[in-house]
Amino acid sequence: MSYECVIGLEVHVELNTKSKIFCSCSTQFGGAPNTHVCPVCLGLPGALPVLNKEVVASAIKAGLALNCAITENGRQDRKNYFYPDLPKAYQISQSDLPIALGGFLNIETSKGLKKVGITRVHIEEDAGKLIHEKTGGTLIDYNRGGVPLIEIVSEPDMRSAEEVKAYLQKLRATMLYLGISSCKMNEGAFRCDVNLSVRKVGSQTLGTRTEMKNLNSFAFIMKAIESEKARQIAILEGGGVIDQETRRWDALKNQSFSMRSKEDAHDYRYFPDPDLKPIVIKTEEIQAIKSAMPQLPEDYRQLFLERYGIKGDVSEQLVKDKAIADYFSEGANMTKSPEIFANLLIMEVSKFIESGSENVMIPIEHKYFAELVNLVSETKINLGIAKKVLSAMWLVSKSPLTILDEKGWWPIVDREVLLGLGREILKKTPQIASDYRSGKKQALGAFMGQLMKATEGKADPTISEEIFVSQLVDEF
Ligand code: ADP
Ligand code: MG
Ligand code: ZN
Repeated sequence: MSYECVIGLEVHVELNTKSKIFCSCSTQFGGAPNTHVCPVCLGLPGALPVLNKEVVASAIKAGLALNCAITENGRQDRKNYFYPDLPKAYQISQSDLPIALGGFLNIETSKGLKKVGITRVHIEEDAGKLIHEKTGGTLIDYNRGGVPLIEIVSEPDMRSAEEVKAYLQKLRATMLYLGISSCKMNEGAFRCDVNLSVRKVGSQTLGTRTEMKNLNSFAFIMKAIESEKARQIAILEGGGVIDQETRRWDALKNQSFSMRSKEDAHDYRYFPDPDLKPIVIKTEEIQAIKSAMPQLPEDYRQLFLERYGIKGDVSEQLVKDKAIADYFSEGANMTKSPEIFANLLIMEVSKFIESGSENVMIPIEHKYFAELVNLVSETKINLGIAKKVLSAMWLVSKSPLTILDEKGWWPIVDREVLLGLGREILKKTPQIASDYRSGKKQALGAFMGQLMKATEGKADPTISEEIFVSQLVDEF
């Protein structure tokens, strides 16, 4: 009997406001421990929180980008639990009146476009950080306490690790385009709780879920999903039941471990925070933010599909970084081969760019990039040469034609020259020809390897292969 897995995600995004959510302390990452703190974010008695307006504006942007309805009369609630990283013993969050409700995010999957439901977007404060000493003690750094977060909760709409990856990539790109977070995963600015259950294919009811907390790398998330899915299936196949629990993914052991049985909402004893006013958002405010929304990954996806027929993984990769999507948007109409334009950008240019970094400039003039694409599409140069030209164009502003001339990188397309070079190779290693004749087709690869080595990659592959097969094998 085959199983499918059902996944819903809670994603925490740290907002890049200058000050914390309820006080004027800095949100800067790092800093000597407990230097970005004050009575408010330390939860000292009598200190009163004041909501940072920027946080609400950022959350509205996120909500609108995810096609949600904005709650005009919202509220903040206390979520009570005891843990040393939370000095007040409650977190100020939002329960049933969050900033945004009921949206969706389109993702690209191997089966085509898919809508993943967004349940809600709410604002809350981050907790401090516990540092477990090797010698046994635990230290606490409250610098992160009170850093503003939005939590984005999805519907249980994903069915595989691939869909989760596509969702997270699109979501992260959307936040980056909005400019509301650094989304640096290694700094915990974009992290994810994975809720996962399994059920028999065809079943309409949801199985019992487990939750794996605070995963902050794509690689871990993928591994954690595969491993948790297998663990649950094995339990069910053995006649057991799944415990609803919170699990911790151990990246070193490649295994998840039970942390605690999962609280239900009522265990948190949510109630409205009496220290904070209701969050009232005026229609005009929402309208103003809406009309100032930047181009989003989803806008680009639709545009590139309509205009150039770009879809699937290529589309996903293309819209991932704003610098690349902007560049494509401006340059792709200068060539007849937008597909090659896209591929060169994704495969080669992305190597020069640190993903998600701000203010990236691609220093190649669009028209030169387009010329290069045309050279590839007209098979005047191959991809290997194109890559070298691209690296050169990154450093100097010159047409690819000039670079090919100056560097002597034009491919060798002259049949006679290629025949001569091929004969020299086969004189030294006639074995290649006899191997090929006796049916070992991989001998062609060996021949091409030697020829490319002799010509520093400049031999035209199509012509070279053709003369080997139709002429040179018979000569030796
Ligand atoms: P909690 O705070 O208890 O984790 P939330 O409502 O914030 O609750 O998040 C619950 C998450 O779990 C959502 O992303 C939801 O889609 C997902 N989820 C709920 N039930 C299941 C299930 N049976 N299988 C997989 N995911 C689920
Ligand atoms: Mg949860
Ligand atoms: Zn503070």
